[in-house]
Amino acid sequence: MTGRQERTPRPVAVSIVGSTGSIGTQALDVVSSEPDRFQVIALGAWRSVELLVAQARRFRPRVVAIGDASFARELAGALPPDTEVLTGIDGLIAIAREGDVVVNAVVGFAGLPVTLAALESGRRLALANKESLIAGAPVVQRARRTPGAEIIPVDSEHCALHQCLRAGRSPDEVARLVLTASGGPFRGRTRAELQGVTVDEALAHPTWRMGRKITVDSSTLMNKGLEVIEAHELFGIDYDRMAVIIHPQSVVHSMVEFGDGATVAQLSLPDMRLPIGYALAYPDRLQHPFGAIDWGSLSRLDFEQPDRGVFSCLDLAEQAGRTGGLAPAWLNAGNEVAVAAFLEGRVGWGAIAAVVAETVDACEQTPVANAGDVIEADRRARERAEQAVRRRGLAA
Ligand code: MG
Repeated sequence: MTGRQERTPRPVAVSIVGSTGSIGTQALDVVSSEPDRFQVIALGAWRSVELLVAQARRFRPRVVAIGDASFARELAGALPPDTEVLTGIDGLIAIAREGDVVVNAVVGFAGLPVTLAALESGRRLALANKESLIAGAPVVQRARRTPGAEIIPVDSEHCALHQCLRAGRSPDEVARLVLTASGGPFRGRTRAELQGVTVDEALAHPTWRMGRKITVDSSTLMNKGLEVIEAHELFGIDYDRMAVIIHPQSVVHSMVEFGDGATVAQLSLPDMRLPIGYALAYPDRLQHPFGAIDWGSLSRLDFEQPDRGVFSCLDLAEQAGRTGGLAPAWLNAGNEVAVAAFLEGRVGWGAIAAVVAETVDACEQTPVANAGDVIEADRRARERAEQAVRRRGLAA
């Protein structure tokens, strides 16, 4: 074990891309909990300029990036004169090449260039942007082989699996990865009961407070489907050795079953600051507890099978994962378009799975030589998904 006194005296240099969102702000919470351990050297956001300025004034990073260049002047004027200000997607990519650990907290496929930049420059990537790994796997896995590059997942299930896998010596010993799912706000409902559910109902997650996109993904179980693909890409375990189980309390964050019958689980209260802190401090552990269990108030842990008939996104995602190639990219693009349309009130909740199914059916397995090829596949998939949305659109 590495004792606290053996830790490198230099603080861990942290760069956060997407610092104003849910994961980004919680990452800064983690940094504040152990200020001697971490130093924020770069912050970036797309357009939330006021919060970005407040964060930069507090954490004093060397460089700050804003994706929407129209805010550049406002940002520069509000920061200390020695702060470097970068703009546009290139600015965000530049800060993904800085630091000991890069947090990718961008939402959706748009995070792909950040993931690639961090890995290609040999950084440790604290990955909260699962979409980039899922859709961009052919290029991301190549970038991951860069010397020094590594991915530590900032997804509670994968953080749990990462911890549980440390109990074994090799992936050959793993019988199954068991991913837990809260079941979301619609657990236990029938298809008929889900007719006409509203955006507010879909956003009312029972155990986690998260961004809007992932909360809708939890309501359809697409989030779990994406996480099955994510686990396959992260840990190299084939789909036949993967299981999903509903666990409404969100205390067991996932489990690894070994060949000898032993199951190792990771338990904590639902608090994303634990997985964020794990990724930032790895291979050490934070000394500040987030989500520690009070055994006086926790009395039961329930488990049940997911209803794959009602929540068909789970099977759609697993099938796309098994197909491989660009199928996960088409799946993800279809889902991003469908979820955005649902949040805008353009389609009903039930249309999300239908739009995704139609998009994946149209998948073209074009050759992938570089990131541009994945981005082009994503663009074509979005076109198909938009057509499917328009056909199923609600009357205004
Ligand atoms: Mg998760």
